[in-house]
Amino acid sequence: MRKGKRIASRSGLERRRAGRTPRNTFARGGKMLWKDDRSWVYSITYDEGCRALLDNALKLHRRYGIPGHVCLLADQVGVPRNVPGSSYDGMMILSKEEVGMLSKEGWGVSCHGKTHVAITEDNAEEEVVEAKGILERKLGTTISIFCVPGSNESYPPALRVAGRAGYKAIMTIYDDVNTPRSDLMRLRRVPIHSEFPPPFYSAFDPYKRIHQAIDKGGWIIDYCHCPMPGKPVHPWKDCTLEELEERFEAVTRIGGDEVWLAEPNQVIDYLLSR
Ligand SMILES: [Zn+2]
Repeated sequence: MRKGKRIASRSGLERRRAGRTPRNTFARGGKMLWKDDRSWVYSITYDEGCRALLDNALKLHRRYGIPGHVCLLADQVGVPRNVPGSSYDGMMILSKEEVGMLSKEGWGVSCHGKTHVAITEDNAEEEVVEAKGILERKLGTTISIFCVPGSNESYPPALRVAGRAGYKAIMTIYDDVNTPRSDLMRLRRVPIHSEFPPPFYSAFDPYKRIHQAIDKGGWIIDYCHCPMPGKPVHPWKDCTLEELEERFEAVTRIGGDEVWLAEPNQVIDYLLSR
């Protein structure tokens, strides 16, 4: 540690200017050590930010010491969800005060668009750029992450405007583990759903990508919506509350002192500050 600090203090500024990674962060088998020398990272995000998270998932977050993250529509804060055709249509969305309470417990927020329509070249200015400002004014906080709504087809048009809008990162639903070298503007997320669509019908797996994250020194960002007791709102889009607990139990038991349980904004700021 002492040696690492000396190296960092001697030329830290020059290294940061050059965009290079300090040598002391690659101490374990060539893999970067994350904050506090943790070897991998676990995060979880909830698209739409349903209020029912407070009655269900929140207690598991408190029990396992894992911070959460909600991806909110700029036009739908503290009102029932208005996205006809969505499995979550009509469900109450967290209010400014509720999001503020969660932030005090370490939760974070990202912008999930303005109205949840697919992002196109024609609406990207409104759905990605303007949405950021609207959500920031509504919540009174800075928003640094854009979360692609719907499908990854919305990703390319969102990417084209996201940097100019001031986003530091984009979360997609490409299912994979991130690494310290991943493109922050194309972060992958891992769906932890009760059952996958045909033709695979893959069953829920509480161990999903954990071994891969350990071997790669990677960063898992789980993705679901609003886990409910007994039955998922939609088996392709969510897990149950019981499955969420299985996941948290597996992450914390296998991860032990090696896993950094982190909110995505924290991880992004950490990577950008190296
Ligand atoms: Zn969504």
